[in-house]
Amino acid sequence: MAHDSDATPQTPAVYDVLIIGSGPAGYTAAIYAARANLRTLVLQGDQLGGQLMITSEVENYPGFEEGVIGPELMDKFEKQARRFGAEMVPQDVVKVDFSSRPFSVWTYNKQYQGNAVIVATGASAKWLGLPNEQRLQGRGVSGCATCDGFFFRDKEIAVVGGGDTAMEEALFLTRYASRVHLLHRRDSLRASKIMRQRVETNPKIVVHYSTAVEDVLGEAAVEGVKLRNTQTGEISEITVQGLFIAIGHQPNTELFKGVLDMDEVGYLKPTVNTMTNVPGIFLAGDVADSRYRQAVTAAGEGCRAAIDVERWLESQGEVDSATVEDPAAWGETAETTDASFARRAPAAH
Ligand code: NDP
Repeated sequence: MAHDSDATPQTPAVYDVLIIGSGPAGYTAAIYAARANLRTLVLQGDQLGGQLMITSEVENYPGFEEGVIGPELMDKFEKQARRFGAEMVPQDVVKVDFSSRPFSVWTYNKQYQGNAVIVATGASAKWLGLPNEQRLQGRGVSGCATCDGFFFRDKEIAVVGGGDTAMEEALFLTRYASRVHLLHRRDSLRASKIMRQRVETNPKIVVHYSTAVEDVLGEAAVEGVKLRNTQTGEISEITVQGLFIAIGHQPNTELFKGVLDMDEVGYLKPTVNTMTNVPGIFLAGDVADSRYRQAVTAAGEGCRAAIDVERWLESQGEVDSATVEDPAAWGETAETTDASFARRAPAAH
């Protein structure tokens, strides 16, 4: 008689939907999908909860009038998804095969299959990699002005970067800060003309060109930054209580290169509603959003993706429904669905 450990199933169970990612988009998609009776598995990743796990207080998520701590908010999202039966795997996805249905994804030790997939892998703020940058995160070092600007009322702060994000963050922060130092490594800004002009004419902003940040200073909280002139090599320090890193975000889409349509930076592009170029693969949240990047917009996107999955599965006859959506709504006809899927599906990656 075989022992349990020998009885590893050869063909994994097929879920209705696999959700890759556990930020607001992934968990909201899970809440909606599981509540719609879809068999739902969330591949949460090794670091659960996405970018809100490195945010201290979230004051602009509706429904929390006193604010809420980022990790607590994500814990609530997860519990709500579990309540409706969503299953969770706290591991990174290391490989996907979207070339045939059911779709497959792999963690380091297991394969999972689903008739639909929602990609909600988010984006990561780029960091400078300074010796004390991570240690002082949440204590004055931040990657999000909208999230943390409020805490710097009447304080002097610095923003790093020369692109539109840095301009936007610097301008936003002038609402709170007494002075904003914009630190840029080159002698000209990359940002669009209109944003540059707004920054250069704002009396609260001082632009430091040819200035690289060498380190963040301070023990318990940010007290200043050490700077290097990139032309002369001269080292100096300025006193600030906050340092906002605004050197861009990187969407977490490495796994999907050559498989899902993306722009030149790597943000995924939808084809119909929230569906990607591969029928049955959907997207939600920051992985496809370089503009808003808010928890509440990501959650909304997760909701849209789950509703789209439900309707798409119905249109494919994969789940029972009283009202079946016409496959044409997804740019397909009933006759061509299988053929077009086979034609358009890319190779495994
Ligand atoms: P960008 O890539 O445009 O700019 C990044 C900036 O950070 C550059 O100035 C770059 O310097 C600097 N940088 C990168 N790495 C480092 C580093 N290691 N050390 C120091 N500085 C560094 O990214 P953004 O996020 O600003 O913008 C991304 C896209 O989103 C752009 O297309 C932008 O136009 C768009 N966007 C539009 C907005 C709007 O229209 N309102 C708002 C925000 C973004 P360098 O110039 O030397 O390369």
